[in-house]
Amino acid sequence: MKVVVIGAGMGGLALAQALSRGGIEVVVHDRDRAVEATGGYRLHLDHLACAALRRRLAPGHYQALLASSAGRRAFTRFAFADHRMRLLFAEAQDLAAETLMIGRVTLRRLLAHGLGDALRLGSEFTGHRTHPDGTVTAHFADGGTETGDLLVGADGVGSRVAHALAGRPTSAPAGVGGIAGRTPLTAGTRPLVPALLTPGPALAFGPGGVGLFLTVHDPASGPAVDPAACTEVAAITEPPSLVWGVLAPDRAYPDRPRELDAAGLVGAAGALLGGWSPDVRALVRAADPASVAFFGFHAADPDADLTPWPAGAVTALGDAVHAMPPTGGMAAATAIRDADLLAEELLLVRDGESTIPLAVHRYQKRMAAYAGEAVRTSIQPLRWLERLATPAGTRAARIALPAVAAATRLGRTLTGARHG
Ligand SMILES: Cc1cc2nc3c(=O)[nH]c(=O)nc-3n(C[C@H](O)[C@H](O)[C@H](O)COP(=O)(O)OP(=O)(O)OC[C@H]3O[C@@H](n4cnc5c(N)ncnc54)[C@H](O)[C@@H]3O)c2cc1C
Repeated sequence: MKVVVIGAGMGGLALAQALSRGGIEVVVHDRDRAVEATGGYRLHLDHLACAALRRRLAPGHYQALLASSAGRRAFTRFAFADHRMRLLFAEAQDLAAETLMIGRVTLRRLLAHGLGDALRLGSEFTGHRTHPDGTVTAHFADGGTETGDLLVGADGVGSRVAHALAGRPTSAPAGVGGIAGRTPLTAGTRPLVPALLTPGPALAFGPGGVGLFLTVHDPASGPAVDPAACTEVAAITEPPSLVWGVLAPDRAYPDRPRELDAAGLVGAAGALLGGWSPDVRALVRAADPASVAFFGFHAADPDADLTPWPAGAVTALGDAVHAMPPTGGMAAATAIRDADLLAEELLLVRDGESTIPLAVHRYQKRMAAYAGEAVRTSIQPLRWLERLATPAGTRAARIALPAVAAATRLGRTLTGARHG
């Protein structure tokens, strides 16, 4: 059995690791020319994604992930604040649960480790063709092809693979975008960091439907595993930074924000944060220009059939199927859960206990059980921002948000869902 994966993001790489460790031939194509040549900030992986990675990676490999991540003490609660950085309420985290708080580029580098020739970079997928014998051929922009028994679209938001399967885009713009960046923590910037970030990240809500996600990312200050103990796969220790992301409705941004340079984006972020805490505004101004980028958020319809195609030789996972905004901190974790599940089903095919269409059918059905809920949870903060876009909404925030949080918590308790 040969599996062709399109997209060496979090989900595609996790799948490639799981399959190659399970002795299944796998090839991953990504249009990026280098694993490091991508943007991204800090990802939060919940206990389910951690369990998946622990299952699918060699112990020394998983150990390097833990040693490259901020330790559990960096995330003991999630705070909600107003634009003056006054705490509205906080959600305590389950400290017994394992989590990873790791830079996106760092995680990508570690998940690519050891794949060797199975990872084909600078390879842009353009389309595919299935054959009567059950195989499938992927076509690439350079004229090359790759034939296998299963094609997996792990090609993220705007997935060409999933679009071809569904006959339509699998997600739509969420109406909200973000300007995100990293500010190096130095003797000059550290004193400006709001105290409420010490126990963990915060999402602050301000006037006009503007939000701000903030988190200190300082893996060296207390990793769960000593990087020096990583002898099989080296840990990657990032320098300390404040990771921030301004969230606002699309209409609040200048035209074509993607075309702005770093100074233009920091200026636009500063304009959106007018009236916010002066320290926070100064921290945003002190961002590393190379780290600043605009992200338009997309979301799948959580109530729709996420995989409206018959199970066969082509499927998809991660954002390609169930794009969600980063406001739930669940997108990468959900992609990794998908990879784990698909690998589990494909290992049964390897052992002669299943077939590829059956494995794909079971994977798609099992994934639907959690993915729609993850999209729904991730969209919720965007709805709060919309409601807070009016002056009356802003005044009501201090009263309403704790109630909303309590309802959300209750909902999670009732559905058995864990905080992402
Ligand atoms: C640049 C970037 C920065 C991000 N930053 C954050 C962040 O800071 N915080 C956060 O929570 N989430 C972030 N995300 C989203 C988060 O990483 C994803 O939600 C999560 O990783 C889902 O994983 P995935 O494997 O489904 O898709 P992704 O990790 O997005 O990977 C998709 C991959 O497919 C490749 N690809 C797409 N089209 C083609 C094609 N036609 N041919 C070949 N390759 C293709 C892309 O180059 C990409 O590497 C970011 C995503 C991107 C792309």
